[in-house]
Amino acid sequence: MSILIYAESAEGKFKKVAFELASYAKKVAESIGTTVTAVTINTNDVSELSKYGVDKVLKVTNEKLSGFSAKAYADVIKQAAQKESSKIILLSSTTDSIYLSPLVAVSLEAGFASNVVGLPTSNSPFQVRRNAFSNKAFNITEIETDIKVLGLAKNSYGIFENASTLTEEEFNPTIGENDFGIKVESVEKGSGKVSIADADIVVSGGRGLKGPENWAMIEELASVLGAATACSKPVSDLDWRPHSEHVGQTGKPVAANLYIAIGISGAIQHIAGINSSKVKLVINIDPEAPFFKVADYGVVGDAFDVVPRLIEKLKAF
Ligand code: FAD
Repeated sequence: MSILIYAESAEGKFKKVAFELASYAKKVAESIGTTVTAVTINTNDVSELSKYGVDKVLKVTNEKLSGFSAKAYADVIKQAAQKESSKIILLSSTTDSIYLSPLVAVSLEAGFASNVVGLPTSNSPFQVRRNAFSNKAFNITEIETDIKVLGLAKNSYGIFENASTLTEEEFNPTIGENDFGIKVESVEKGSGKVSIADADIVVSGGRGLKGPENWAMIEELASVLGAATACSKPVSDLDWRPHSEHVGQTGKPVAANLYIAIGISGAIQHIAGINSSKVKLVINIDPEAPFFKVADYGVVGDAFDVVPRLIEKLKAF
């Protein structure tokens, strides 16, 4: 009765969330005296999972699964869970996993809790802590079903090394033609070098930057920091930046270690999407800007003065 995780990858390589999920699963497994199995889909080298405590990998390699298909992927995870007699199935909170988790839960007649933060607060009854109201509150949720599916909030637990001896097994689940009702045919990549979902640092610009011609300094700052670039909604609505960079309640969620907001007022809809970030640095000319209320560090100043100086200092570092 292993704990099962779905270790996500992109283009054959693990996403960072896979290691966070493995670290989390290992801790839960230790608390209930069991092991961790990961199911992977078209991942080239799975050995890295042994660093984070995974004991066994069910490795699925199948050309049919080269593009994401929620129903087919959910079927794979379900069959892996049945093979391992898993009672706890863990997924992340990426766009794919948010789609998959309820499908997996329904197919296994399992209870499902999304947005889980922290380790279970109790194993019997099984209770977890969850984010609620765009991270403004937490609740403790009890899952009463025998099988439990959890969606771990991104960047909420961390990545911890905990070496294990890994067994790899080729796994060939049955995939029906009906599993491909909806299939992603192509993926258009955003403009940034680093994806917002995987970034440790995100540099985000708002309408305070006046126009698209001023984004060179945002890109330069992001490049110096190895960060992803993002923007507020009006900026993408105005076509200053691509929609793939829009973050907030109606855009992409951000759970970075450092979120740098430049010329962004801090409207509630923006904050709702970036609030899970650990440290928030705000640069704004207006000392009354609402963003300062949630900032860990704030610089009251003109972005056109502050950002170039920040880049200069960082380059000299
Ligand atoms: P502004 O509100 O115009 O703020 C610009 C800021 O730049 C100001 O604080 C100003 O002081 C500062 N500034 C000006 N000049 C300088 C300078 N030289 N240097 C430094 N600072 C300067 N918004 C999102 O971002 N994401 C969402 O997902 C989202 N969803 C929404 C959903 C709904 C249903 C609704 C109604 C709104 C949503 N919005 C969202 C819009 C949101 O309410 C705000 O209008 C938006 O976030 C404001 O963007 P902004 O801060 O870039 O622009």
